[in-house]
Amino acid sequence: MTQTIGFTELKKMLLAAVEIIRANKDELCKLDGVCGDGDHGVAVTRAMEAIEAAIHDYQGENIADFVKAAGWGVMSIDGGSTGPLFGSFFMGMKDGAPADNVINGAAMAAMFAAGLKKVQKRTQAQPGDKTLIDTLVPAIEAATAAAESGDDLDVVVKKAADAAWAGSENTATMQAKFGRAKNLGEKSIGSIDPGSRSMALIFKAFAENI
Ligand SMILES: [Mg+2]
Repeated sequence: MTQTIGFTELKKMLLAAVEIIRANKDELCKLDGVCGDGDHGVAVTRAMEAIEAAIHDYQGENIADFVKAAGWGVMSIDGGSTGPLFGSFFMGMKDGAPADNVINGAAMAAMFAAGLKKVQKRTQAQPGDKTLIDTLVPAIEAATAAAESGDDLDVVVKKAADAAWAGSENTATMQAKFGRAKNLGEKSIGSIDPGSRSMALIFKAFAENI
C-alpha cells in the first residue's frame, strides 16, 4: 500500500521505465517492422535515455520542473513522431504536478491526465486509430476513476497500467489511420501498434516500481 511518493520515488519509476523500454527495444522494432519502418524500438529507447540523462543532469527537487526538463529532452531526440509524442506526455505532466511536491493517487492521475492533454495537442489521433492514444485514453480514464473512488496511489497506477496494456492489445483489432501503417489499409489489422505497446510498457514499469 503506497499512498504518496516524492521526487526520489518518481525518479525510480522513470528509471524503471527506461529499463523496460531498453529491454524491449528489439521487440518494439520487430512490431514496427510489421507495418512501419522498423525503427520504433530505437527511437523510443533514445527517448527514454533522454529521461535518464535528465535524471542525472537535473539538480533540483521540484517535480514540475523536472518532468518539464525531461519532456524537453525527449522532444528533442531524433526519431520521427516518437520524440514529440512521448515528450509531450512527460512534459505535459508538469501541468498536473502537485504544488507541495508530494504525489498521491489524485495527483498522479492529474499528472497522467495533463500528459495526455498535451499529447492530444500534438496529434489528431482519436481512440480507435491504432496509435498510442489507444493506450493513453483508457489508462488515464482508469487512473482518474480510481483516484476519484479514493484508491491508494499504487492501486491508481496499477489500474492505469492494466488499462494501458489492454488498450495496447486492442490495437491489434484496429486499422491504422496514422503514420506509415496507414498506407497498408486493412492489412494493418492484426498487429499491435508499436507506440501503443511502448507506452503500455512504460505504465507497466511504473506499476511494478511504485
Ligand atoms: Mg518507425
